[in-house]
Amino acid sequence: MKVLITGGAGFIGGNFVRHQLEHRPEDSFVCLDALTYAGNLSSLEEAMRRPNFRFVRGDISDRDAVGRLFSQERPDALVNFAAESHVDRSIGDPALFLRTNAVGAQVLLDACRAHGARFLQISTDEVYGDLPLEGDSAFTEGSPLRPSSPYSASKASADLLALAYFRTYGLPVTVARASNNFGPWQFPEKLIPKLIARALQNRPLPLYGHGGHVRDWLYVGDCVRALDEILRRGQPGEVYNVGGGNPRANLDVARAVLRALERPESLIAFVPDRPGHDARYALDCAKIRRELGWVPEISFEDGIESTVRWYVDHRAWWTKTPGL
Ligand code: NAD
Repeated sequence: MKVLITGGAGFIGGNFVRHQLEHRPEDSFVCLDALTYAGNLSSLEEAMRRPNFRFVRGDISDRDAVGRLFSQERPDALVNFAAESHVDRSIGDPALFLRTNAVGAQVLLDACRAHGARFLQISTDEVYGDLPLEGDSAFTEGSPLRPSSPYSASKASADLLALAYFRTYGLPVTVARASNNFGPWQFPEKLIPKLIARALQNRPLPLYGHGGHVRDWLYVGDCVRALDEILRRGQPGEVYNVGGGNPRANLDVARAVLRALERPESLIAFVPDRPGHDARYALDCAKIRRELGWVPEISFEDGIESTVRWYVDHRAWWTKTPGL
């Protein structure tokens, strides 16, 4: 099988590329990525040496370029990670998010339709909106979509387009809605790598509001295993929640990072809350467990330990990040 991976130079996409090259050596892979500020070719250095991997720089919303790539490569399946992915940036520039996340997805869906390729959309728990802080309710795949930010609204648009292409054209699509990932190669504007980088520099760890917002943390290695299952065994037209089962308040995440690095809690600094900030996310993952047998294997504590170690060892990469 030939798989086109869009956004493979980003955090989860890059981890997926490495997972596939290791576990699916019989397949071949093409990565299409625009290399925005979040794209990082050095994460694909080893992949580039493999004969069954090719990197192409390009924009998923460029219809001609995508069409040419499909004609050349004729992929059997496409996994779409390419996106603008940072909620804070979406508040400043919603149009860019709509162009990449919604229009870009539609360009890819059209290309899959024209060339008979399967389509796996990588989506987020944020499309469901948020839950009250108190209680243990969780979103199922049938929960209504109530996105809060321009980012999550653009992701919800792509999900709906993908499912409409299944219904209208019979295109074999699947949608994976993942919770907050963490692990190696995450751009340090996101919470966990930012906390690690700040702590390593003995600088304040900024937390929005009261630090009580709850996210369900998923180690990226577990996430890419789930995506592999969905790509290969998921039912066309279906949505799969992929959650880590690790609900943690941001304050507890900061404390865990500080503990792992033996730094004082006095580094924590509360900053004014983000507009429209979601209180809590939680996913019911009974469907993927039942149908595909996937469960997360890495505990939050082990994931934090290995992520902290990775950022300590890769200081040269993240110290270049502007604004850290
Ligand atoms: P990321 O920001 O690290 O990477 C995104 C990648 O997409 C980058 O390599 C970037 O260069 C590329 N890209 C951006 N615009 C592009 C365009 N127009 N054409 C081609 N490539 C383009 O993102 P991530 O954290 O790896 O997330 C990957 C996907 O998973 C996204 O769709 C995101 O919405 C989704 N997701 C992320 C998380 C998370 O916690 N990180 C959780 C759930 C879902």
